Amino acid sequence: MATPLVEISDRVWVARHEWFDVNVTVIGGTTGLVVVDTLASTREMRGTLDAVRRLGEVIAVVNTHDHVDHVLGNSLFDGLPIHAHEETAAALERLRDDRPGHDGDRAEEVDASPVVVPTDTFSSARVIDLGDRQVELLHPGRGHTAGDIVVRVPDADVVLLGDLVEESAPPAYGADCWPMEWPTSLDLAISLITDTTVVVPGHGAVVDRDFVYQQRGDIGIVAETIRDLAGRGVPAARALDEGEWPWPHAVLEHAVTRGYEQLPRASKRLPLI
Ligand SMILES: [Zn+2]
Repeated sequence: MATPLVEISDRVWVARHEWFDVNVTVIGGTTGLVVVDTLASTREMRGTLDAVRRLGEVIAVVNTHDHVDHVLGNSLFDGLPIHAHEETAAALERLRDDRPGHDGDRAEEVDASPVVVPTDTFSSARVIDLGDRQVELLHPGRGHTAGDIVVRVPDADVVLLGDLVEESAPPAYGADCWPMEWPTSLDLAISLITDTTVVVPGHGAVVDRDFVYQQRGDIGIVAETIRDLAGRGVPAARALDEGEWPWPHAVLEHAVTRGYEQLPRASKRLPLI
């Protein structure tokens, strides 16, 4: 059964897909539609695209970051501009040129979906003109990846946070995360959110500002705990056991290794004995 597109604000629709519990968002204006994120396979995206086309003509695509569950439907939009941060495009180029087999569910379907690299990249900000409405794309800094972007529809009071925030799982700290910068990147994103803003996370249900504050708090605790442990000379290999963390250890393995690597030299101390 096709995943329904739910209108969460004026001409902003979200399809919350069961597979990866990942969201596709469609934003409509007088000149056409923008599709934000394209799911984990061509086949999965094709299922939703039929419903999207009933809303209008797609004129542009956005990838919030480079992870496969957000980009592997890109090939269905051949010839259209695909907007993303320049780091996202660089990561997808590397993936296209050296692609490991997918390790997980429906691997054949994932591997059969071509990697299509975004065509229209930017470093900090971009506006997509939809006629009666402007869609703002902003790179608030590094966090979940090096190239996360936030998408804002000011007149609809909607902000899409990509995987800077997740509703249905803890935030994903992968091998490419920036745990020490993530909190301040989220602060920039939060400055765009009011108490009436509808916030769309990369995964799970739509949320509000209080939810984002809460998760930003926990992401901040992870960074501060890493800074504190490293400052006291606790080696990275002991950090998970020594610290008090907001999420289970399995979620935080890469956060700790990456966090230690990303700390400035001065804030790390060798154990004295
Ligand atoms: Zn991701």
